[in-house]
Amino acid sequence: MNRSKFLLIIVIVAIVAVFIGFDGHKLLTLENLQGHQGALAQWIDQNLLLAVAGYAGIYVVVTALSLPGATIMTLAGGAFFGNLYGLAAVSIASTVGASLAFLVARFLMRDTLRKRYAETVAKMDRGISKDGAFYLATLRLVPVFPFFLINLAMGLTAMKLRTYALVSWAAMLPGTFVFVNAGTQLGQIESTADIVSADLLLSFALLGLFPLIAKFVVGLIRRRKVYAGWQKPESFDYNLLVIGGGSAGLVSAYIASAVKAKVALIEKHKMGGDCLNTGCVPSKALIRSAKAADTMRHANRYGLESVPVKGSFKNIMNRVQEVIAKVEPHDSPERYRKLGVDCISGEASFVSPWELEVRHNDGRTERLTARSIIVATGGKPAMPPIPGLAEMEPLNSDNLWELQEQPERLLVLGGGPIGSELAHAFARLGSQVIQVEMGDRLLAKEDSDVSELVKAQFESDGIDLRLEHAAREFAIEEGEKVVYCEHKGERVRIAFDQVLVAVGRAPNTKGLGLEKIGIETLRNGTVPVEDDMSLRYPNVFACGDVAGPYQFTHAAAHQAWYAAVNGLFGQFKRFRVDYRVMPWVTFTSPEVARVGLSEAEAKEQGVAYEITRYGLDDLDRAIAEGEDYGFIKILTVPGKDKILGVVVAGSHAGEILSEFTLAMKHGLGLNKILGTIHPYPTWNESAKYAAGEWKRAHAPEGILKLLEKLHDWRRGKGQAHEQNVKK
Ligand SMILES: Cc1cc2nc3c(=O)[nH]c(=O)nc-3n(C[C@H](O)[C@H](O)[C@H](O)COP(=O)(O)OP(=O)(O)OC[C@H]3O[C@@H](n4cnc5c(N)ncnc54)[C@H](O)[C@@H]3O)c2cc1C
Repeated sequence: MNRSKFLLIIVIVAIVAVFIGFDGHKLLTLENLQGHQGALAQWIDQNLLLAVAGYAGIYVVVTALSLPGATIMTLAGGAFFGNLYGLAAVSIASTVGASLAFLVARFLMRDTLRKRYAETVAKMDRGISKDGAFYLATLRLVPVFPFFLINLAMGLTAMKLRTYALVSWAAMLPGTFVFVNAGTQLGQIESTADIVSADLLLSFALLGLFPLIAKFVVGLIRRRKVYAGWQKPESFDYNLLVIGGGSAGLVSAYIASAVKAKVALIEKHKMGGDCLNTGCVPSKALIRSAKAADTMRHANRYGLESVPVKGSFKNIMNRVQEVIAKVEPHDSPERYRKLGVDCISGEASFVSPWELEVRHNDGRTERLTARSIIVATGGKPAMPPIPGLAEMEPLNSDNLWELQEQPERLLVLGGGPIGSELAHAFARLGSQVIQVEMGDRLLAKEDSDVSELVKAQFESDGIDLRLEHAAREFAIEEGEKVVYCEHKGERVRIAFDQVLVAVGRAPNTKGLGLEKIGIETLRNGTVPVEDDMSLRYPNVFACGDVAGPYQFTHAAAHQAWYAAVNGLFGQFKRFRVDYRVMPWVTFTSPEVARVGLSEAEAKEQGVAYEITRYGLDDLDRAIAEGEDYGFIKILTVPGKDKILGVVVAGSHAGEILSEFTLAMKHGLGLNKILGTIHPYPTWNESAKYAAGEWKRAHAPEGILKLLEKLHDWRRGKGQAHEQNVKK
């Protein structure tokens, strides 16, 4: 740190120390103000200019050093000097003070930040140069954050001092007036009757109403600003247009039709999207065949004869298609048309925030308008740019389902949920699976004890697990496909027959024309949604995989509700999406199901927690089924039964989890689960036993000791004991 910065810090610390040392923070209170008002009034009358200057000077220091008391000072301005002088003194002093704080923050911190977080600062600066003045005005008008924080934060940006001072002055003026005006009334309170005087009530009503009015005005300006340059159609073809007929789009359209809105659903490929055609449904069908194979292989565990798994891969894949066909009517255009949805086969792209161009699958194009539009275009498997990978004709979750021959040696790239589910299924179906993962464990979003359990099962099922292996290059050597991985500084060669890539998913935004309406995607490819699921425009929404942050069918459906309801009724009320209780399941064996915080997340976020564990090897039903492995781990608030998070790793984990999800959603603690009758012997009894473990750990020891004594006494044991001793 250079000398001048160091000196400035010393000066600031010294002034703050003097302020606190002389109880400055205690002086700046409402009671103190009222107490001294009478005494000061006379002196102020005689020395008005000096008083105003002195007051403004103190105000500048308080604001510049971010000391507490600016609000009281503003009220005092009104109380001592009246509306005119008070407003002038406060508005000038607050602007000068805020500008000084802004400069101090900039001088002390900006260079350091710029060096350390160059990219973030550059991005922030671009935003500030585009919309900075508007954001600042919004923050000043609608005081969501304390002003001193705004002063400091803005100092770290590239905003010009002149812009900052001018915008701050103008945008603080209405609020300053409201507070100064309220201050003028303080001196009027002499009796309780004055408290209900019309002037006083009006002043304080203004204080309360001001943020609401300011918010409304800011919203209005923002809407105008964002739609500037666009011509809104006078009438619309639809109330809602939905792009994409996957989980998110289907639910959006369903909700709109249920409330009798005119809605069209535009799908360029197959209704049902990923979940039905290439995701949840086919993968779970394949996993079921794999489970059957595992049971056959280990039938001796159930007193039967283990048999080698023989069968046709083609038949397995045919069954997968049959399952899709059986589920398909739930998502079919016929069903949705019956519900009143116009199902359109084609590809949509934006023309304006209210208009889409649809290229029909038969080649026609047409333009459709709607009051609101929902983007629900999902995602596709991401392909990492590894040299030689494309030449391997890699499998992914999109094209896997057309496979007719089972790969003998299958290389699976990726140790996340999709890679792990598919690796395990293929291993159980008899492929020799090599699973390559860059990180040091599988399912990295879960706690390490969960990863360990899954790893142990994978290895016992014959998966050649290569953790901390980063695939660097693919090649064909003497007719054999190989990958070279980097593993702890060494180059490792792995041969395989086919590679399945499962290293994440990329949102579908290409060809949507988002750039035409000024919507930029985020770094991870998703679109930037607000918490009402809207995009840049209050009438354009996104939900599902294209919006993130979750990539689950149920998350897509959850978001879709918010997008559809806000899209149809947002003018009256907007609902903010709530992700607090979001469960998910990875369908490996053991299954892994989670809701709320993991232990690692709790630590990272500094959330205090207690752990309760219950081993599923203790559960009668699990023992009867020969699936007595895994555990339930519950995080609770220390000393309370309030659930912060649960992970279940074991058979039927997904089903067991639902009870905890319900409890978390509706604020039920472990005592309530413990007090609920669970039929014997079910998997869900484990939830009750886990709650029982928590109860045991929190048993009231003192009361139990007293009870023990009471029981001893009631059995006459104390007396008998004494008599025995006498004998
Ligand atoms: C192998 C695998 C297994 C999975 N298992 C599970 C699971 O067990 N549980 C779970 O909850 N989730 C699972 N998922 C995730 C789940 O499938 C997705 O989260 C879900 O499908 C997302 O729904 P969506 O509506 O956002 O997107 P999608 O289902 O991808 O639907 C988007 C639709 O938009 C269409 N589209 C795109 N662009 C346009 C355009 N310009 N015009 C018209 N139409 C367009 C696409 O054709 C597509 O049909 C799995 C995913 C995979 C890949």
